[in-house]
Amino acid sequence: MESPVITIRKAAATAKINIHKLRGNLSVLEGSGGNITVLTGRDGKLLVDAGISRQPVEAALASLSEEPVTHLINTHWHFDHTDGNEWLHSIGAEITAHENTCKHLSVTTRVEDWDFTFPPAKASALPTKLITTDETLHLNGSTLVLKPYGPSHTDSDISIQFQEANAIAVADTLWNGHYPFIDYSTGGSLDGMIRAAEANVANANDETIVIPGHGPIGNKSQLIEFRDMLVAIREKIASLKKQGKSLNEAVADKPTTDYDSKWGGFVVNGDFFTRLVYAGV
Ligand SMILES: [Zn+2]
Repeated sequence: MESPVITIRKAAATAKINIHKLRGNLSVLEGSGGNITVLTGRDGKLLVDAGISRQPVEAALASLSEEPVTHLINTHWHFDHTDGNEWLHSIGAEITAHENTCKHLSVTTRVEDWDFTFPPAKASALPTKLITTDETLHLNGSTLVLKPYGPSHTDSDISIQFQEANAIAVADTLWNGHYPFIDYSTGGSLDGMIRAAEANVANANDETIVIPGHGPIGNKSQLIEFRDMLVAIREKIASLKKQGKSLNEAVADKPTTDYDSKWGGFVVNGDFFTRLVYAGV
C-alpha cells in the first residue's frame, strides 16, 4: 500500500482550492493538505499553515487581496501543514511555530503509522520564531492568541485564536467529521487528544467559528460531537484491552462500527483508528 504521505502530496499537486470567506478579514483555503487560514490587512497576509502545493495556493492568495504574505504560523510539524514553508519564506514570510515543530522538521523523522521517513527540511523552511507558552500578536487590527496544547495530535500543536472575529484555528486536534490521526512517533497522545478536545469546547461559544486542521469549517456543537466520539471509542477499546484482547482481536471486534459511517470516510478508517486508540489506552 502506498504511504498516505505520497497519496496526499500527489492529490495536492493538482488540487482545486476552495476559498471560504469567514468573519472580518479572515478566510480559509481548503484543498492543499490541511486547511490554511488567511488574515488579510495592511500589515500583510498572515497564514495559519502552509499547505503543500505552491501554484494553486499562490493563485488563491492573490485572488483574496494584493498584500504580500508577511507571516506564517505552523500549527504543528506535519508535512501537510509545512510543505509550503519554503516557498512562503522565500517570498518574505516570517515563520512562527512551537519549538517542537522546528525540532522535528530539523531532523530525519520516521512516522511508522504512515510508513514514511521525512528527511530534514531545508534551513529556509524552518520556523525562526519559536514558542513554548501562550503568545499574543497584534496584526491587521486583530488580536491573535497562540496557545500550545501540550502532547495531543503531536507534541507541537498550537491553537490560534482570532479574538475580534471570534474564530479559532484548532490545528489537527479537530478533524471535523473524520477520525483523527494520532502521531505517537512525535509525542502524540490519545488522552492528550481528548484533553485538547475538552479545551476546544471550553474555549468556544455558540458564535465561535472553528477552523479544523481537516474537514469543513465548524462550530462548538461539532467540537462536542468530536470529543464525545473520542471518549466513547476510548472506553470501548480500553475495555477490550482490559479483557486481554490482542490488537488484532480488538480490530476484529469492530468496536467503531456504530461510528464508521459518520467518521471513517477519510484518511483514517475504523480499523486504523482502532489501532491508534488501542496503542493509547
Ligand atoms: Zn497533522
